[in-house]
Amino acid sequence: MTTTTHSPLIQQLRARLGSEGILSAASDLIVYECDGFTIEKNVPDAVVFPRSTDEVAQVVKLCNQYDMPVVARGAGTSLAGGCLPVGGGVVVMLTRMKQILQVDLRDRLAVVEAGALNIQLGRALAGTGYHFAPDPSSEGASTIGGNVATNAGGPHTLKYGVTGIHVLGVEAVLGDGSIVRLGPVADPPGLDLLGVLIGSEGTLAIVTKVWVRLTPNPQDYRAMRVIFDTVDDATGAISDIIGAGIIPAAMELMDQGIVAAVEEAFHFGFPLDAEAIVVIEVDGPAAGLDQQRDRIIEFCKKHGAREVLQAASAEEREKLWKCRKLAVGAVGRLSPSYCIQDGVVPRTRLPHILRRVTEIGNSHGIRIVNVAHAGDGNVHPILLFDERNREEVDRVLAAGRELLQECIECGGSVTAEHGIGVEKIDFMSRLFDRSDLEAMTRVRQAFNPSGLLNPGKLIPQIDP
Ligand SMILES: Cc1cc2nc3c(=O)[nH]c(=O)nc-3n(C[C@H](O)[C@H](O)[C@H](O)COP(=O)(O)OP(=O)(O)OC[C@H]3O[C@@H](n4cnc5c(N)ncnc54)[C@H](O)[C@@H]3O)c2cc1C
Repeated sequence: MTTTTHSPLIQQLRARLGSEGILSAASDLIVYECDGFTIEKNVPDAVVFPRSTDEVAQVVKLCNQYDMPVVARGAGTSLAGGCLPVGGGVVVMLTRMKQILQVDLRDRLAVVEAGALNIQLGRALAGTGYHFAPDPSSEGASTIGGNVATNAGGPHTLKYGVTGIHVLGVEAVLGDGSIVRLGPVADPPGLDLLGVLIGSEGTLAIVTKVWVRLTPNPQDYRAMRVIFDTVDDATGAISDIIGAGIIPAAMELMDQGIVAAVEEAFHFGFPLDAEAIVVIEVDGPAAGLDQQRDRIIEFCKKHGAREVLQAASAEEREKLWKCRKLAVGAVGRLSPSYCIQDGVVPRTRLPHILRRVTEIGNSHGIRIVNVAHAGDGNVHPILLFDERNREEVDRVLAAGRELLQECIECGGSVTAEHGIGVEKIDFMSRLFDRSDLEAMTRVRQAFNPSGLLNPGKLIPQIDP
C-alpha cells in the first residue's frame, strides 16, 4: 500500500501524534530508506515519533485498520537491514522514548524506555558500582530496545553473555495493538515468552520499556595488546587460553588490513607487517588476576607472540581499548561503502574461516578486512566497495553469501549478533527445516496475527 501526505491514515496519525510526531514529506522520508545495511533501500510511507507506549499502541491499531506494515526502529544501526521498510510501511521511531526511568541498586535493576541509548544507561550508572553488561561496539549509538530486538552481543559477550541474559522484563505492543508486560519476575512460571521476544527483530512486538539486570563492576582488570606475526598464531593462542579453562572478559582480533586503516587514521604505532593484533582482557576479583594474565602471556608466547603490551593504569587500558573501538570507524578511509558481515564458527575453525575469507574476497575481486570477537568464534569480515558501482555490489553480495555458507559448513551460523533482517532471510531455510520454520511462523502469528509487524524479516515465507 502507498500513501500520500494527505491520505486518511497519515491524517489520523497526525491527529493522534501532532505535526511534530510524524514525517511524511518525501525529502524527510529518504533519511529512513535504509539502516547500517546500505545495499537495500526503500522509502517508508511515513515515520512517526511516539512518546509513550500508549501512542505506540495507537499507531499499531491505526496501521492495522489500513493494512499498513509497521517497522520499529531504534538508532538504525542494524547491519542486516532489520529496519528496511520492505514494500513500504510506517516506521515507528523509538527515539523520543529515551528516559532512564529507575535505577534500583537494591534489586540490581534499571528500568529504561526502549529508545534510551546503551551508552546513556552506562552514563546513568557511572559511580554506582554497577553496569549494564551488553556492550555492542555500537553502544554509543544503538538503543536498548534495538539491543533487545537483536539480542546484541559485543566484546564482553565472551564472559558476560548476550543481551537476553541481562533482560528481566519488557513492556511491549503486540501486532494487534494490545499492550503486554512480560516479567520482571525471577524464574517465572509458564512459557518463556520473554525469551521468545528477545531477538525477534521487531517481528513479534514493539518493545517500549525494558527492565535490565545490573552487573557489579569488576574489582580489577588486566588488559593487554598482543601482536602476532600470523593469524594462525593468534587463533592458536586464543583456543589454548579457552582450552585451559580461562574465560577472559574479551578477546578481540584485528587483522592486518584493519590495523593498517586504524594506523593511518590514528597513528598508534602498530607494525604494518603483523597479521594480527589481539586485545585481551581478564577481569574480576583482584586476587588471581595476575596469575590469569601470566598464563595468557605464556600461551601467547608459546604461539610466537611478537610483542605483549600490558596496560599499567586505567588510562592505558582505555587507550588500549580505543584502537579496537575505533577500528570500524577507520574503515571509512578505505572505501566509499562497506558491508560488515557477521558469521560464527567453532573457535578452533577461526584459522580456516579467516583464510577462506581472504580467498573468497580474492575470487570475487573484493577487498576484505577483519575484526573478530575471536573468543566467541564470531567473525566480522568487512567487505569494501563502492555502492555506486552496481556490478561491484553484486560481487559483494555473492562474496558475502559464499562466506556465510562457509560458516555453516564449518558447523557455525550466519549471525552471532547482528540478526537476520532482510539480508540473511534466505539462509533460514538452510539452517532450519520446514517444520521448524512452520513452528516459528505459528509463533509469529500468535504475537503478530496480521503479519504487519516488520514483514519480510527473520522468518521466510514458506511455500505451500
Ligand atoms: C559500527 C557498528 C558496530 C556494531 N557492533 C555491534 C556489536 O558489537 N554487537 C552487536 O550485536 N551488534 C553490533 N552492531 C549492530 C547493531 O548496532 C545492533 O544490532 C544494535 O542492537 C541495533 O540497535 P538499534 O537501536 O540501532 O536498532 P535498529 O537498527 O534501529 O533496529 C534493529 C532491529 O531491531 C528492531 N527494533 C529496534 N527497536 C525495536 C523495539 N523497540 N522493539 C522491537 N523491535 C525493535 C528493528 O525493527 C530491527 O529489526 C554494530 C553496528 C554498527 C554500525
